[in-house]
Amino acid sequence: MQIYLDGKLVPESEAKISVFDHGVLYGDGVFEGIRVYHGRIFKLAEHLDRLFASARAIMLTIPLSREELTRACRETCAANGLRDGYIRLVVTRGVGYLGLNPFKCPKASVFIIASTIELYPEAVYREGLKLITAATQRINPAALSPSIKSLNYLNNILAKIEAVNAGTVEAIMLNSDGYVAECTGDNLFLVRGNRLETPPVSAGALNGITRGVVMELARGMGWAVAEPNLTRYDVMTADECFLTGTAAEIVPVVSVDGRAIGSGRPGAVTLQLTDAFRKLTQTTGTVI
Ligand code: PMP
Repeated sequence: MQIYLDGKLVPESEAKISVFDHGVLYGDGVFEGIRVYHGRIFKLAEHLDRLFASARAIMLTIPLSREELTRACRETCAANGLRDGYIRLVVTRGVGYLGLNPFKCPKASVFIIASTIELYPEAVYREGLKLITAATQRINPAALSPSIKSLNYLNNILAKIEAVNAGTVEAIMLNSDGYVAECTGDNLFLVRGNRLETPPVSAGALNGITRGVVMELARGMGWAVAEPNLTRYDVMTADECFLTGTAAEIVPVVSVDGRAIGSGRPGAVTLQLTDAFRKLTQTTGTVI
């Protein structure tokens, strides 16, 4: 596999970063996960917008322009013959000293991995996912904005550990007010009547690219879409529940904390949106 690392494509065995990189020492950096479908990079502009916004929020200067990053993503896919897969685009603070001060890291590092990802087994898409509610709360936006897609995922990892220990793979994370924020690596949606509901970004949800696409598709299909604060009660009494994410796409949820959601089977609206989403991924994107 060829990896893009600071301006060059290098073999995987040579794709190494320093132990003094603050991305490693402190999780100081930002990233994006992006999908490639049929030789096209899906929603690249939106991912780059979020990457630059995340970097700006942590005063990190990305040493490449949008055009250069676009070219680097395309070249990395082409070098690996990747036509369907997943791009991990990472910007770390770069090499510094052992202290925290990010301004002592003169240059950010950029690396790109173009590979494949399978987040959930295929059966999950047919049969639906069983969630738990994690005891680990989502980090308060006043402490660290969940809109920053940073390399520091420990909060999510603690909740993920709870999910795995409970015999499943994903967990709902609540915010410090008790409202639903999101899952450890996906946004959450509910269907109630002919209305779609998803927690607002202010509740601690990442402004997911897939979330945005699904909201737009749903509106186009005539459904109302709202972003109210949601409680566990709202989840338990919803008609349908599903998750969205770049790697996961749209995943039906059939139970939460051992309670069936709706019919306990993947819902009709979820499946209709999945169809529409798949069609969109096959027909749009930045050609490699
Ligand atoms: N929330 C979190 C915490 C995530 O890490 C992700 C991305 N895996 C998402 C939501 C979904 O966002 P997107 O649709 O942009 O992948």
